[in-house]
Amino acid sequence: MSETIAFLGLGAMGAPMASNLAAAGFALRVWNRSPARAEPFAAAGATVCASPAEAVRGARFVVSMVADDEATREVMLGPDGVVAAAAPGTTIVDSSTNSPAMSREVARAAVARGLAHLDAPVSGSIAQASGRELVFMVGGPQHAFDAARPLFDAMGRMARRMGDSGAGSTIKLVNNMLSGTMSAAIAEAMSVALAAGLEPAAVQAILSEGAAGSRLTRTKIPKMAARDFSPQFQLGLMEKDLRYFLALAQEVDRPVPVASLVRTQLQAARRAGLGTQDVSAIFVYTAGGG
Ligand code: NAP
Repeated sequence: MSETIAFLGLGAMGAPMASNLAAAGFALRVWNRSPARAEPFAAAGATVCASPAEAVRGARFVVSMVADDEATREVMLGPDGVVAAAAPGTTIVDSSTNSPAMSREVARAAVARGLAHLDAPVSGSIAQASGRELVFMVGGPQHAFDAARPLFDAMGRMARRMGDSGAGSTIKLVNNMLSGTMSAAIAEAMSVALAAGLEPAAVQAILSEGAAGSRLTRTKIPKMAARDFSPQFQLGLMEKDLRYFLALAQEVDRPVPVASLVRTQLQAARRAGLGTQDVSAIFVYTAGGG
């Protein structure tokens, strides 16, 4: 009989990840705060549940993909949460981008109840989640990492254990400090390039071949040029990641002027109403209406 997974959080990333687990033959029990997002999964044979506590019943694994620390606190540690309800021996795979402090707090509570906990955030966006190309960066015990390997294989192309609890969240924030500051730098570069009269497709072609060429130059430049800010990765979530990165830098006593500046830009853009747009909407903040 296939193993059962409780999947919590069926947003832009969670939904395709859950679909790939179902396609790999796992039995799914799903929960989402807004029930509408869970409905399509009932048609596909999953059991739709009314709370995290109900979803974890009979599950060997729990995968969570919710927004942030606050959501994770509710889903994991709340009265209807995972930690109070899961059977001893259950392994929690938390793929949300949380602060390392949050990951370690949940891990401690989980271990006290005989559960195993992995912080396992991902790099890759919706296209990579759909195409099983996510990269998992994992913190937590080796035995839990080994046990969860079939889940990582069903959802991604790479999983690497980075160290003990919190190490996955730590490298994820470091990764997003780079992608967040690069997104802001690309917006600034594009603003000047377009104002100087260059042709967007040619700018993209050349910058993607240059030393700073990357998935970001390939995917975000066309969105900026077309002013198509339909969300792949919401600006407000990137701001959250930079905020957590600043707290981490504070903890380890390192100056981070670049991240501080970009977080302030993202904060202003979010406060101007761009938080649920794609992170490439930082271009609007940088370039203005012209
Ligand atoms: P999303 O589409 O906004 O989904 C967020 C999910 O979190 C939804 O299921 C939402 O439920 C749930 N949620 C929010 N607040 C909650 C709360 N207080 N209690 C319970 N559930 C709550 O965002 P996403 O893009 O899938 O991102 C999910 C996570 O992946 C985030 O940590 C993000 O930083 C990370 N991430 C995203 C990307 C990307 O490219 N999109 C890439 C890598 C990592 P409702 O449906 O009820 O709102």
